[in-house]
Amino acid sequence: MSDLSGLAAAILDGSVEVIDLTSPLHSETPILQLPPEMGQTAKFSLELISRYDEMGPAWYWNNIHTGEHTGTHFDAPNHWITGKDLDDVSQVPAKRLIGAAAVIDKTAEVAGNPDYCLTLQDVLDWEAANGPLPENGWMLFRTGWSQYGDDPAAFANADENGPHTPGVTPEAAEYISKTKILGWGVETVGTDAGGAFGFEPPFPCHTMFMGANKYGVTQLRNLDKIPTKGAVVIVAPLPIVNGSGSPCRVLALVQR
Ligand code: MN
Repeated sequence: MSDLSGLAAAILDGSVEVIDLTSPLHSETPILQLPPEMGQTAKFSLELISRYDEMGPAWYWNNIHTGEHTGTHFDAPNHWITGKDLDDVSQVPAKRLIGAAAVIDKTAEVAGNPDYCLTLQDVLDWEAANGPLPENGWMLFRTGWSQYGDDPAAFANADENGPHTPGVTPEAAEYISKTKILGWGVETVGTDAGGAFGFEPPFPCHTMFMGANKYGVTQLRNLDKIPTKGAVVIVAPLPIVNGSGSPCRVLALVQR
C-alpha cells in the first residue's frame, strides 16, 4: 500500500462507513458508584469560562471536570493492582489503540438475564464459527445494555444486593487474557459484571486483562451496527501522564 488516499476517498463516498461507538459526555452520563466508604469518581461537568460576553467577547470555552473513568473510557493496565508496573494511559503505544474488531453478541441472553456472564464455552463457540480472536484486535461484547445509557438508574440496575449488569465469568476472562487481543470493550459502566465483586477472583476482567497488559473500553454504543468480524476500531484516550485511564472517542470503520 503506497498511500491511504483510497481509504480517505472511501470514507468520503460512504463505501467505508464511520460508526461512532461513543456515548455522549454530559453531567448525567452514568458513572460507577462504589460503596460509600470508598473513593468515588466524578461526574462529568462543564464550568463556563466565557460565552461571547464580558469574560471573553468573541469566544466560548469551558473548563471540564471529570474522572478518568467517566463515560465511554479507556482502562490502562496500571488501573488495576495486577498491572501496576505496566503502562499508564500516556504510555500505551498508539499502534495498540487500533485493531480489527470481533463482536460477540449475547443480546438475547442478557435480555432474559441481566446478570448473564459470558462463558468459556461461548468464547470457544465464537471461535469455532469465526476463527481465533484477532491478534491485536478489539473484542467487543454486545449485550444491548447501551439502550439504558441515558437513564443512570436503569443503567446501574441496582437493588439491595448491588448492580445487576452483564459481564464475563472468571473462566472466560482467563482464557481471553491468554489470547493476543488488545482489549475488551463493553456497553456497561465497567468491563466486569455488576456482581463481579463476589466472583473468584473478584473483578476477573480487570484482574486478568490489566495484568496481561490488555485494555478495557466501556459504555460503547452502536455495537449492533458493526459486523461480527471485519470492522476496524480506533480507541482514542487522552495521553494523561501517570493516568490510569481517560474518557475516549471510539470509532469503527465498516466496509459497506
Ligand atoms: Mn474504568
